[in-house]
Amino acid sequence: MYTATNILVCDEDQMYTVLNRYNPKTHFFEGEYSLVHNAYSNDAYFLSKFLMEHRGHSLVMIDSDCERYFQIKRDYRHYGEEDVSRYIEELSERRREDEHQLSVKQNVGQLQLLVAKKMIEQEWEAVQNRPSKSEQDTYVLLGQDFAFRRAVDTIKQVVDFQR
Ligand SMILES: [Zn+2]
Repeated sequence: MYTATNILVCDEDQMYTVLNRYNPKTHFFEGEYSLVHNAYSNDAYFLSKFLMEHRGHSLVMIDSDCERYFQIKRDYRHYGEEDVSRYIEELSERRREDEHQLSVKQNVGQLQLLVAKKMIEQEWEAVQNRPSKSEQDTYVLLGQDFAFRRAVDTIKQVVDFQR
């Protein structure tokens, strides 16, 4: 992560949007920062809106090592400043909701596996209680017994692995 903080400036409108630090691994900026939530937007929401509203204007990106940086932050308007906290709050709510949905889906998946296991166990029990009428019959039942045992063990392993 580069340490310099970046802003994108439109001199024509005396306005800037905050990009914050650039991550050379992901090639994304941190985006706007909310002090209230101690969080970055980690998306290009404000940048995209800024670009759209200033199309045709000359924009310049400068970082905190540049002499003009503090002068611009003092004198120019910070684009979307009043919306940053609300936006980041909505974003973190949405991300929490997504995580919740994911864990609900995982729980449903586990439940389906346990239902399948129960059904296989019932069939397995039926096989174990079936009387053998011949030697060949015994081999068939033993084979089925083995197959059901394998199926149940496999599901147990998968369910335990997910925990
Ligand atoms: Zn502009």
